[in-house]
Amino acid sequence: MTAKATRVLVLNSGSSSLKYQLLDMGDARSDNGSGAARLAVGLVERIGEATSRLAHTPLAAGGATRETTGPIADHQAALKAVADELATDGLGLDSPELAAIGHRVVHGGLKFTAPTVIDDAVLKEIERLVPVAPLHNPANITGIRTAQALRPDLPQVAVFDTAFHTTMPEHAARYAIDVATADAHRIRRYGFHGTSHAYVSRRTAELLGKAPEDINVIVLHLGNGASASAVRGGRCVDTSMGLTPLEGLVMGTRSGDIDPAVTFHLKRVAGMSADEIDELLNKKSGLLGLCGDNDMREIRRRIDGGDERAALAFDIYIHRLKKYIGAYTAVLGKVDAVTFTAGVGENAAPVRAAAVAGLEELGMAVDASLNAVRSDEPRLISPDYARVAVAVVPTDEELEIAQQTYALVTA
Ligand code: ADP
Repeated sequence: MTAKATRVLVLNSGSSSLKYQLLDMGDARSDNGSGAARLAVGLVERIGEATSRLAHTPLAAGGATRETTGPIADHQAALKAVADELATDGLGLDSPELAAIGHRVVHGGLKFTAPTVIDDAVLKEIERLVPVAPLHNPANITGIRTAQALRPDLPQVAVFDTAFHTTMPEHAARYAIDVATADAHRIRRYGFHGTSHAYVSRRTAELLGKAPEDINVIVLHLGNGASASAVRGGRCVDTSMGLTPLEGLVMGTRSGDIDPAVTFHLKRVAGMSADEIDELLNKKSGLLGLCGDNDMREIRRRIDGGDERAALAFDIYIHRLKKYIGAYTAVLGKVDAVTFTAGVGENAAPVRAAAVAGLEELGMAVDASLNAVRSDEPRLISPDYARVAVAVVPTDEELEIAQQTYALVTA
């Protein structure tokens, strides 16, 4: 008897890490009504170092997390180690129940507007996009090649961070710079975190008991990286990240919006190289650059202890967030919901309260007691009288990748 193939392995490959989840898409034990059950989750970090660490949690077996440390030379060795862990739980990747492997791919340019089964031509196109995603796409390609080597017979699907944003109109996607220069170098606003914005905007519609086509949502994805999007009737019409994830909101370590002349100034006056400025703006700026911490929990602790630098960093973060809520209200014309998601958005009640404070004229308010509730469930935190629903919806990029992958290979 051949088992029906209902499992999807989701891989998210970073330059020195590999995050994974194995899901069963046809399982009765459904996670949040999705019809999918998580069988195992884990990550390998510090790949290529002497102190690589693998943490594997066999959820289906109800098992505790197993941790191993020791050198894991490359992504191939990392995936092999993951496959061994899964095999220990009877979930080996050689199983006929595995239907496909879904890969998070950061940059899909303009070409990839939907999840795509990977073949040589697709892989070439992802490679062609390396100049616009130099940090991310090479790691994603390594992950794909490694998985192909392990199961050459299996469909591998790319789910792109940029895909949800390809519906942005030209007037939102283009920078106001010389068109020939922009086109020659593929300079335009692509947006990122698209899988999360897609999932969260759809779940917001469910929470309101509406169809996604019938509502307009502002999604605030506030993790270490952070981005906002304006979603009209289920389609993205604007987002805060641009050519790269540097644009937009103040983030953990990224500056978000700044006058581009700051970069020439740093070169001419401070003598910094392009790489040094890149590092400054991406890794040493944002909350970290402002106050020395990029974890919102620590920043809140410091504020509670009277720390003025932490308080100013928080205020700058909130000011930018509020500007984007205002801008996207204007872009959408009518807003049905503002939804907070990701590490900060799901957990930091003070951020939600401060971002929405004073926006009563826009129909937005937060109820203090609803906002204080901690939960893993999608929920409303606005008072009944508010015209605009303010919601918290935990994001689940892996589930979204698994669903898109499974839908594509079973279509
Ligand atoms: P990413 O995927 O971008 O790395 P996450 O979405 O996991 O990030 O968010 C991580 C961030 O969430 C942390 O840096 C921290 O600032 C914030 N965070 C996590 N838990 C809490 C919490 N309980 N309260 C406030 N902030 C939190």
